[in-house]
Amino acid sequence: MKTIFEKIRDKEIPSYMVYEDDLVMAFLDITQATKGHTLIVSKEPYKDYLNTPDDVLKHMAVVSKKVMAALSSLYQPLGFNVLNNLGEAAGQTVFHVHFHIIPRYTNHDVTFEFHPKTSTPKETFIEIHQSLKSALS
Ligand code: 5GP
Repeated sequence: MKTIFEKIRDKEIPSYMVYEDDLVMAFLDITQATKGHTLIVSKEPYKDYLNTPDDVLKHMAVVSKKVMAALSSLYQPLGFNVLNNLGEAAGQTVFHVHFHIIPRYTNHDVTFEFHPKTSTPKETFIEIHQSLKSALS
């Protein structure tokens, strides 16, 4: 079954498409978190970030920059959030890889809440540091 974004790609459902090439498309999110909220989406339906080939991810980053530059000159936001939700627990609802480009006009038009554990013990940092560093080497 096609994802909703494949249906948009194939023009089976309408969208406000702003950019397309062989690998990537960009269209306005139906829920405008802020003015200009745009989705950068792969043409192929890779289900999430971890399952997307590097060349496609790199191109999605380049197109994100292009879209942010255009939004900057059009609407002069104060900044942007570039967001990828990976997995249901992280808020992913469409399992077809995409980045959210969210222009920010004030400090409080969007909220992302972190709940940091300020009391993380040193041994935990050491354990994570050693495991992750070695997994990456
Ligand atoms: P996720 O929750 O997976 O990170 O983001 C999915 C995004 O897709 C949501 O922000 C949602 O508003 C957007 N979306 C879902 N259905 C449609 C649609 O039919 N058209 C457009 N333009 N955006 C959609």
